[in-house]
Amino acid sequence: MYSGLSSEDMMRLRDEQVRTLLNASRETRDVEIDCDDFLSLMAEYAEVRAEGRAVPEGLEKACAHERLCPTCREELAALVEIVSGARR
Ligand SMILES: [Zn+2]
Repeated sequence: MYSGLSSEDMMRLRDEQVRTLLNASRETRDVEIDCDDFLSLMAEYAEVRAEGRAVPEGLEKACAHERLCPTCREELAALVEIVSGARR
């Protein structure tokens, strides 16, 4: 009989992995965010970029993610175009 990991075991494992990742990222210099976090900040960040303002403290994380993630960088670029177009 197959005795693999139960789904509870899997969840516990995931939990531990997430916690390890969180601990690891706490030690890095910049607080890193994932794509979902970036998306939730993107509208605000795009406006800052479209206006050419300095990046405020709360959006520095978005700025860091933009540098790391080509996918989000592209999405942001498209949104910045739209936002700056709407302002013209
Ligand atoms: Zn991303």
